[in-house]
Amino acid sequence: MKKIEHIGIAVKSIEVANETYAKLLGVQHYKIESVESEKVNTSFFQVGPNKIELLESTDPDGVIAKFIEKKGEGLHHIAIAVDDVRAEMKRLHEAGFTLLNQEPKRGADNKLICFVHPKNSHGVLLELCQEIK
Ligand code: ZN
Repeated sequence: MKKIEHIGIAVKSIEVANETYAKLLGVQHYKIESVESEKVNTSFFQVGPNKIELLESTDPDGVIAKFIEKKGEGLHHIAIAVDDVRAEMKRLHEAGFTLLNQEPKRGADNKLICFVHPKNSHGVLLELCQEIK
């Protein structure tokens, strides 16, 4: 695994959170993108070599809406950059980790992604992401 690619934060309103984070980080978001398969709108901030992804649900039954209902707004996942998402999925599966999708999915910001269940990582949802060339 290469580095922390981004940190995902669940928010109720991406519009409100964009303003907050622009103020906080001193930069504007560089991208807003909807990911229909995940039922989210995302927005990205570049912070030095790292990124922050804000996630807003587009559906009251979506995973982000459910997350906020249960835990409130806040840290949702940590994404780790990998060269070969399929190889890492295989390695983690064999090591006993629970993958939340069996095939890589297309995520925001031009990535192939796979989520790893937080029960195997001390309560933190992890996202593997491979840049699509
Ligand atoms: Zn993410």
